[in-house]
Formats: sequence, structure tokens, C-alpha cells
Amino acid sequence: MAGEPQDDCLFCKVVAGQVPATVVRETETTVAFRDINPQAPTHVLVIPRAHYRDIATLAAAEPAITADLLKETGEVAAQEQLDSYRVVFNTGSGAGQTVWHAHAHVLGGRGLQWPPG
Ligand code: 5GP
Ligand code: ZN
Repeated sequence: MAGEPQDDCLFCKVVAGQVPATVVRETETTVAFRDINPQAPTHVLVIPRAHYRDIATLAAAEPAITADLLKETGEVAAQEQLDSYRVVFNTGSGAGQTVWHAHAHVLGGRGLQWPPG
């Protein structure tokens, strides 16, 4: 069923506590934790507890959870005391998506180039 945990999904396992993660914030609908391979001094992933394969699928199915997730990116940035930061949703393998459970990257703590390449 849409949104149900998937046995083969790494981030569903993080939500379930079956894979360890450095959690920085949690809400009823989201979990935020540090990326295992940080690309900036602050690199936090914000995910919905529910399983959707990417942000577009989540947004179409669950607009309220999508809003919660966006709000949490701002809460993470505030908690990490980031004045400037970037929120990224890699969507599709050509854009670098490797984990097929929707997630926002919150990156900050260094200068960020634009365009990103
Ligand atoms: P994507 O490439 O799909 O946009 O982002 C997936 C992110 O998940 C990558 O930045 C990668 O470093 C991170 N990641 C992969 N495996 C793990 C893990 O086991 N724990 C944590 N905390 N992050 C992970
Ligand atoms: Zn999942």
C-alpha cells in the first residue's frame, strides 16, 4: 500500500531504528539525521516516515507530509545555526538519486556555488 514501509529500503530501516543514524530532529511524520558521507560541514537528510520513492511522488500523494518535511528543513537549518544553506531533492538516477525513499538534503556551513553543476 502507498506509504507502507518497504523491506528493502534503507531509509525505512532508519525510521524503524533497524539501521543506526545520528538523528538531529524527529516529528510525528519526519526524521532528520546526518548524512553518512557529508558534502558540507552540515549535511542533514530529512525524510518522511512514510515510504515514497521520491519527492514528486510524496508531494502528489501526501501534500501535508510534504509541507511538514519542508518546514523541517528550515527547523534543521535554524538548529544548526545556518545563515545560508541549500535544500536539494535529487530526483531520478540522472540527478544523483541513489536512495529511493524521498529525502531532502540540507547543506550548509561552507560557501555553496551556483549553478551547482
Ligand atoms: P541521494 O544520492 O539519493 O540524493 O542521497 C542519498 C544520501 O544518503 C547520500 O548523500 C548518502 O551519503 C546517504 N546515505 C547512504 N547510505 C546511508 C546510511 O546508511 N546512513 C546515512 N546516514 N546516510 C546514508
Ligand atoms: Zn523507504
